[in-house]
Amino acid sequence: MRTPLIAGNWKMNGSAERVRAFGEAFAGDRLPASLDVAVIPPFPYLDQARRAFARTPLALGAQTLSPEPAGAHTGEVSAAMLAEFGVAYVLVGHSERRQHHGETDADAYRRVCAALHAGLVPVLCVGETLKQREAGATRDAVLGQLAAVLKPLDADRRRRLVIAYEPVWAIGTGRTATPEQAQATMKDIRTWLESLDSDLAQTLRLLYGGSMKADNAAELLAQPDIDGGLVGGASLQVDEFFAICQSA
Ligand code: PGA
Repeated sequence: MRTPLIAGNWKMNGSAERVRAFGEAFAGDRLPASLDVAVIPPFPYLDQARRAFARTPLALGAQTLSPEPAGAHTGEVSAAMLAEFGVAYVLVGHSERRQHHGETDADAYRRVCAALHAGLVPVLCVGETLKQREAGATRDAVLGQLAAVLKPLDADRRRRLVIAYEPVWAIGTGRTATPEQAQATMKDIRTWLESLDSDLAQTLRLLYGGSMKADNAAELLAQPDIDGGLVGGASLQVDEFFAICQSA
C-alpha cells in the first residue's frame, strides 16, 4: 500500500549533459508504474530537467529551500519558486546541511512548513553519527530529530512527508548499513510513528539512504519497513540508477 520511492540526490554534481542523458534513458515505460522515481539535481538544472523529464516517469526534486517566503535573502531559493519550476520533492535536514551549514531541527521544521505551504513533499532526512551509534544512542538521536519536526505538525500536514533514514557514517563512505541494521532503526521509526498516529505509521514512506548501490539495493529494499531509497553517489550514473529503480 506504500508506493516505493527511489530518489537520486545528485548533490553538487551533474551537468546539462547528464540531465539530457537521464531524460533519454528514462523515456518510455521501462519501469513499473507502481514505483515513484525522482531525480534531485542542483538548482541551475531544474528547468532543463523539467523539460528533459517530461516524457519520462521521473519527478523532480530540489536539495534544499529557504524557510522564508521572499525578500532580502541573497543566495536562497523559496518553496514557491521551486513549485513554479515543477519541483515535487525537496530534501530537508540532509546531514550535509546539518553538519556543514549549521542547520538545526528547528530550521528543518521551518523548512518543512515552507515546503508544505507551497504544495511540495518534504523528504525529511534523519540519522545518527558514528559516535552516537557507538554510544548506543541511535534510536534517541533519530527519534529526537523526527519528534522535533513531526510533533508540532497537525495530522494532515504530517501525512504529506517522506522520511529518509540516513546513518551519517554510511553516507558517501561506501559503508552501507546492513539490511538488518537499517531495518532495526526503521522499525523503531515505524513504531514511534505508531505511537503518534497509527494511520500515519501505515502510510508514511520511509527511505533508506547511505551508500545504496545497484548491488545492495534489492536486499535493503526487501526489508519490511524500507519503502525506497535516497541514493547519492550511485544516482549519478544513469545505468546504475536505473538498475536500483528496477530492484525496487
Ligand atoms: P550516498 O549519499 O548514497 O552517496 O551515500 C546518500 C545521501 O547523502 O543522500
